[in-house]
Parts: sequence; structure tokens; C-alpha cells
Amino acid sequence: MSVTSRNLQLYNSLSGKKEKFEPLHENNVGMYVCGPTLYSEPHMGNMRTFINFDLIYRYLLHLGFNVKYVRNITDAGHITNSAGHEEDSIGKAARLEQMQSLEIVYKYNVKFQELQRIYNLLPPSIEPTATGHIQEQIEIIEQILNNGYGYAVNGSVYFDTKKYMQDFNYGILSGRKVDELENETRNLNAQDEKRFFADFALWKKANPDDMQIWRSPWGNGNPGWHIECTAMSTKYLGKHFDIHGGGMDLKFPHHEDEIAQSCGSFGCNPAKYWMHANMLNVNGQKMSKSFGNYFLPKEIIEGTTNLFKKAYPANVLRFFMMQAHYRSTLDFTETALDAAEKGFSRLTDGLNLIEKLNTAENSSFDVQSIVSSFYEAMNDDFNAPILIANLFDAVKQINLINDGNATINKADKDLLETEMKSFVFNVLGLEIASSNNDSKLKPVMELVLDLRQQARTNKDWTTSDKIRDGLAAAGIVVKDGKEGTTWS
Ligand code: AMP
Ligand code: ZN
Repeated sequence: MSVTSRNLQLYNSLSGKKEKFEPLHENNVGMYVCGPTLYSEPHMGNMRTFINFDLIYRYLLHLGFNVKYVRNITDAGHITNSAGHEEDSIGKAARLEQMQSLEIVYKYNVKFQELQRIYNLLPPSIEPTATGHIQEQIEIIEQILNNGYGYAVNGSVYFDTKKYMQDFNYGILSGRKVDELENETRNLNAQDEKRFFADFALWKKANPDDMQIWRSPWGNGNPGWHIECTAMSTKYLGKHFDIHGGGMDLKFPHHEDEIAQSCGSFGCNPAKYWMHANMLNVNGQKMSKSFGNYFLPKEIIEGTTNLFKKAYPANVLRFFMMQAHYRSTLDFTETALDAAEKGFSRLTDGLNLIEKLNTAENSSFDVQSIVSSFYEAMNDDFNAPILIANLFDAVKQINLINDGNATINKADKDLLETEMKSFVFNVLGLEIASSNNDSKLKPVMELVLDLRQQARTNKDWTTSDKIRDGLAAAGIVVKDGKEGTTWS
């Protein structure tokens, strides 16, 4: 990778501007992204955020950086104020499903790991868990208390926002003003324990029915919502690292409070660049478990939702996500998914065609500038939709060459093929079956589906299910419809 292609600009939520990306330690990048709370199966909205940070991770790797990518797993129940009342989401799921908290987390982590494979996400360097870092969280709380930015009351510990505001800027990231916060937080329970309405819990005294309880210098309890990310990011990346990311909805209070905790304990904002990925919406509203407007990734792949008439393979869904910039909202609609499916197949055809192109002595167009346009798009704050538009320009040229209306020489063809494949496979993370594989797989699939049909006719459901599950495990989805059985 040439150094000139490293002219990366990224939007820093902290400054509200695009800035040149200059890592703190030359070639090494530390990136922390807030991971899922595993009390239920991640929905398409959650996946969008993780897919967007996967794109960012992949492009940093593509530019040749050594990236240490830390994404946590929230497996400790936190009391959060959702929909106007306090609840511990993991504890609630455990009660409903009659399991222990860590059983719930383990169950949904298995699903989450499977989804990452299906959607072709690269595994982070480390996925630390909150429950594995209770001691580190306690130590940071002690540091905050020693520095005078917290107070213990009745077995709980709170962050002293008023004291903090004398020395630091609370609201530096979100731009929130404390007087605007007053109305929103007035109804919180245990409000009377706090000295000031904007104070937040670092440690909460245990309730008798809490499933997860830890010992601490302040008595039995559990950590506040924000402290785990401060503990795990600084443990693995240091007190000041390059990139901190998460969904836009985490900017406040979660990330604002992480900054307050880091400044209050170590005296500095933990990250140089703060990045926020925007929401996946349904009819203009954020997809969310609590609104009930969510879709599970598997439902879409298997075509079992009421919203869509058919199934969409994982690579089409990933392509659909890549067609929107990570800072824009994206609406989940059938029309958009159908358009993505068409676009993806046009790109696939182009990539399959380039392998077979005849070369000429000269190229009739400037291949180098097309390749540069791929880098320019991604260097402009990871602009995947522009990259895709530029890839389509390349496909147009490929079709012209194939029709005899343009020419390409051997060196240019090799360059274009290598760069296109690299951007599509490695950067966008799209898996494309080559036409070669498809043609070999087709007769095999016909045979397998024929055997499955025979089993179904004989009402041998064990065999037919075995075939279906085996194919699913290999990433092949079988769908029975009016027009017969199809696979993708
Ligand atoms: P949670 O499990 O609720 O902590 O969410 C995990 C991640 O998914 C966070 O980074 C959220 O910002 C993100 N997220 C939640 N809902 C959506 C959505 N509709 N679109 C995009 N990201 C989301
Ligand atoms: Zn976090």
C-alpha cells in the first residue's frame, strides 16, 4: 500500500468536523467499539452498527495499519432507564426464560457469533466481557473517588457531575446542556441519593432479587452502565487511544459519561477520534427491541417475515448496508432490498466478466484514475456508497470492453481486477461465488434437492430436515415456494 493512499479523513464527533487521521503511534491503531448487550438475539439494526465498524476496521487494515480492535460484550446486567422505567435487561430476560444471567448471555452470544460469520464480519482482536473485568471497574471507581469526582452513599457510588464541571466540560461530545437534562432525568428512582440530578451511578447497591451481585469496597452490588467500557478500553488500549465508536444512540449518555469517567480518573479524554454509526430505521423510526419494529437477521435470510415477500441472502443485505454512508440513517424497505439485490448481481457479473476479458495493446480509458477513485471514496470518511458508484463505473467499462467498444491492456486489466476484487472482497467484505463455483455447484444442488424431494414424498422428515440443516450450515438456504424449491 502506497503511503499516498493513506490520506484518510474521518469525521470526528468530538469536533463535529472531518479531520485527517493521524494515529497516536504511527502505524498502530487502537479502536474500541461498544458491543452488544446479549439479553436477546441481535436484530438487523444492531448488525448495521457492527457491519459499519467492520467496514472501518477492514479499510484501516487495507491501508496497512496494525489495528487492535476491541469490542466488548455486555454480560453484566445494568440498570438503565429505558422507556421511562428502570430495568436490568439481562436479569429480566433471565427471569422470563427461567435461566441464569450468564446462561442467557451465552445463549445469545452463540447466535451473535454465528451472525458475524454469516455477515462476514472479521473477528475483533479481543471481545472482553464486563463480568471478567469487575476488579478493573472497581479500581477506576476508586480512582474517581480519590480524585474527588465521586461520592459513596448508602452502598452505591455516584459520579459528582457538579464537581466535574468545575474542571472539565460535561457535554463536550454530545453538546448537551445540563439544564436540558434536568427535565429528562427528574423521574429516576433513587434520585434522592444523588446530590445533583445529572450525577450517574458508578456502582449500584444490590437489590435482593438481583441475579448478579459482586463484592466491592462499598458493599455488595453491581457496576453502573458506563464504567465497563472505561475499564476494558483502557485496559487493552491504554488511557488514550485512537478511535472510540458505537451507535449514534450511545453518544449520550453512554459516551459522554465514559469521557467524564476517563477524565475523572486519568485526566484525559480516552479517544482522539469518536465515531458514531447511524441507525437502521423502519418507516423512519429507529429499529428497536422496545418499539417492537425489529427484524432478526435470520428471518430476512430465510424469508420468514411478513414484511418481505422473499428471502434475501446475507451478502445482499451487507451490500444494502454498504450502499448507505455509515453516518446516514437507512430505511429498511422491500424496494431498497430489491434494488440492492439487482445492484449486487450487476457487480457480481462485472467481477466474473473481468476474468474472461481479452486484452489489447492499449487501454482506451484511464484505469489508474478509476482505481484512485476507489481510494478517494474510502479516504473521504469511509464513503462506501461512493466507492460502490465508482465500482459500477468500472463495471460499465468492463461491459464496453466485452462488447468490443473499448479496450484494455494486460497490465491495466490485472490492476483493475486486483483492485476491484480487493475492494469488493476485503474492504466491503462481500462474498461472491465465482461463476466457476456456481456452475460446479449447480448439478450437485440439483441432485441434493432431488434426494430431499424424494424424502419429503416418502414423509421421511428426518432425512429432509437433515439435508436442509446441513445445507444451511454450509451457508446455502433452501426455500420452498409456489414455483418449486430454490436455493441461494
Ligand atoms: P445494545 O445491544 O442495545 O447495547 O446495542 C448494541 C449496538 O447496536 C449499539 O452500538 C447500538 O447503538 C446499536 N443499535 C441499536 N439499535 C440500532 C439501530 N436501529 N440501528 C443501528 N444500530 C443500532
Ligand atoms: Zn460502551
